[in-house]
Amino acid sequence: MKITVVGTGYVGLVSGVCYAELGHDVICVDKDIEKIRKLAEGEIPIYEPGLQPLVIRNSAEGRLRFQTELKEAVTASDIIIIAVGTPSLPNGEANLFYIEQVAREVAEVIDCYKIICIKSTVPVGTNERIRYLIQSQSPVHFDSVSLPEFLREGTAVQDTLHPDRIVIGAESEQAAKIMRELHQGLTEHILVTDIRSAEMIKYASNAFLATKISFINEIANICEKVGADITKVTEGMGYDNRIGSSFLKAGIGYGGSCFPKDTQALIQIAGQMNYDFKLLKSVVEVNRGQRFNVIRKLEQLLGDLSGKTIGIWGLAFKPETDDVRDAPSIEIIQSLIDRGAVVKAYDPIATNNFRSVLGYANVKYCETAREAAVETDALCILTEWQEFRQISLYELETWMKTPNLIDGRNIYSEEEIAKTQFAYYSIGRPNLNKGIREQSPVFMMQG
Ligand code: NAD
Repeated sequence: MKITVVGTGYVGLVSGVCYAELGHDVICVDKDIEKIRKLAEGEIPIYEPGLQPLVIRNSAEGRLRFQTELKEAVTASDIIIIAVGTPSLPNGEANLFYIEQVAREVAEVIDCYKIICIKSTVPVGTNERIRYLIQSQSPVHFDSVSLPEFLREGTAVQDTLHPDRIVIGAESEQAAKIMRELHQGLTEHILVTDIRSAEMIKYASNAFLATKISFINEIANICEKVGADITKVTEGMGYDNRIGSSFLKAGIGYGGSCFPKDTQALIQIAGQMNYDFKLLKSVVEVNRGQRFNVIRKLEQLLGDLSGKTIGIWGLAFKPETDDVRDAPSIEIIQSLIDRGAVVKAYDPIATNNFRSVLGYANVKYCETAREAAVETDALCILTEWQEFRQISLYELETWMKTPNLIDGRNIYSEEEIAKTQFAYYSIGRPNLNKGIREQSPVFMMQG
């Protein structure tokens, strides 16, 4: 099939490249000239494992092109997939500016029947709104399809080529049939629904996963108070098929370009229908509080943080990505700066993106994990990059001024920590946490 993907970011680029890998002719369009220039030269503007060889091969074999020109791409394609950003407005609603802009541009150039799919995450009713917008500008017949995306950054290629499910929201049988064919063989779960349900499936899925994370983080906080170990608790819970073990890892909360904005957007969608989504509001509030556990524990260890040197390992919102959008590291580092701490930060991939968010002032960006740890009063692990696990704790102790370790991702085991002198704090594992004053369970019972 002939496909144009508009928006060549984390989603559009991976989707376009994977459709080409499946044998389709794909034109990826973006208004960012620099991004398109890099892609046309085989350079990948984002960090996504496994993507570059596919870009190079499919471009060389003539199935994949990158350009800024929309008209020629639309004319040459049967299917237009819109994958531009839908960031949050200040009130939490999804900003549909970019989607509407693309819709107007497509309306100007559409010349014959096409399927127009929205892959971006959009509020329920957006596909209809966009259809009316295009119809108001163009007499050409087309079909609208909601095609929500479920890939995860870091495993995006694998997720796209081997998805758990494909959701197709379509009103027209012809469009549904073509979209089924496009995804045939990728998964046995191809679900065709009405357009509004497809739009809702995306928000409901992300809201549910965010809820799982906030739930387990609250259980971890209670574990710390009652003397239970969250890793044992989640193992015991996860064997239950009704619960499952994924997204049950306690830590400093979720971040990234999807969960924070999609939970806020769903709260707004519900609110516009006069429905108060209390549960999801609590999920968001718990998540925000969880980030500040790191600051609370540092203050328990060091008292006033003013003038203290704090090392940070990990800036990306999760490993295997360079994405720092809404990463917990941003708020945590900003709080440290506000408290007068000196921050030394290291991330294997995401430093440049982070620098563009928080700037140069008050943060010393380091070239290595060691440099970020040297002569620090405490070190905080905010992203569980594999590289950090490979560093010897004995060596780490010698690099630091004082061996204080805040492990926001529970990357070390009891055995590893027991052999060290670290004052150690992790999430929901009170028996491992050493040297940091905890509220004793015995005291609580007496009290
Ligand atoms: P992104 O910011 O990485 O990419 C968006 C791209 O669209 C940018 O390259 C931008 O230059 C381009 N663009 C904007 N306006 C344009 C226009 N008029 N013409 C051509 N290009 C234009 O965003 P993303 O992370 O890929 O997310 C895209 C959508 O997919 C969002 O709605 C997001 O919620 C959803 N989504 C993202 C993920 C994820 O993990 N990133 C997963 C599932 C769904």
